[in-house]
Amino acid sequence: MKILGIDLGGSRVKLAIVDAGCVEEIKIFPIRCDAPVRSVLKAVEDQAVSMAGIAGCRGIGFAFPGIVDMGKQRVLCSNGKYADAAETDFAGWARERFGLRLILTNDAAAALCGEMAYGAGRGCDSAVLMMVGTGIGTAACSQGRVLTGKHGTMGILGGHIAISFDHPRPCTCGNVGCLEAYAGTWALPGLAREHPGFGQSMLKNAERIDYRALAAGCEAGDAVCGDVFRNACRALCAGAANLVHAYDPERLILSGGAAHIGALRTAIQEHLDRYCWTPWGHVRVTSAENPEASVALGLSSLFEKRENGALSEQL
Ligand SMILES: [Zn+2]
Repeated sequence: MKILGIDLGGSRVKLAIVDAGCVEEIKIFPIRCDAPVRSVLKAVEDQAVSMAGIAGCRGIGFAFPGIVDMGKQRVLCSNGKYADAAETDFAGWARERFGLRLILTNDAAAALCGEMAYGAGRGCDSAVLMMVGTGIGTAACSQGRVLTGKHGTMGILGGHIAISFDHPRPCTCGNVGCLEAYAGTWALPGLAREHPGFGQSMLKNAERIDYRALAAGCEAGDAVCGDVFRNACRALCAGAANLVHAYDPERLILSGGAAHIGALRTAIQEHLDRYCWTPWGHVRVTSAENPEASVALGLSSLFEKRENGALSEQL
């Protein structure tokens, strides 16, 4: 069945028309995460009506970067982003504006559903996902079920596993020492500016300090880029090992903007091989085949499951 997938990130929205795991059309536009949800929804409406496939859609999948109660179709907590999300009736909006049913879920959980059904998770039934973007989104699938837990938080808070207790950096969640505070893209500019060599680094004049800028700097021999990238890598390695020990996966799937940085994938693989307690073998680290589409594919797979009566099992 054809659906409209809405992937709301920290700085942009991806709209996709998807039919049974096949992305037919994709549209990306910028958004500010301090914007109210009603203006986000208005922008989605304006963009979606110009998509050729919208008329044939039979549902809307909405992936939100926060804690979501899938059963009640409500956002429980957005951690400061899109502040009125918890008061927003997303299902009512989908019904009134498009006449369609809605599935609302967490973005990383949707991405893992997509990878398990159509991407890097095919052929295994237990995997964890690390979505390295503005924050670090995670999700866990155990023996065929993407975990949600009693309150919708199981598996998705891996970015807030504390990895440092020695002068720990504050995180946006209120805790200190979280993985995100060392490796989320939001933390990279602060980490770079604290480096004593920042004034001489090419990062000083960079428009954005993200993984793409760090990778380019490393290639050009910029020492500050090398240090900041290595430290973020170390943080992601520690976080990855924690996820492996917590969820017993066969694979760790990297998604998000940094998914295809080979040095990152290699560093995490070597770290897991060396330090993880997995006497049955090795956890394979792999990249999402098409990170831009993981979430939309996951939303499509959730609708397929609902069609087949398997979504309540998933929930
Ligand atoms: Zn945190």
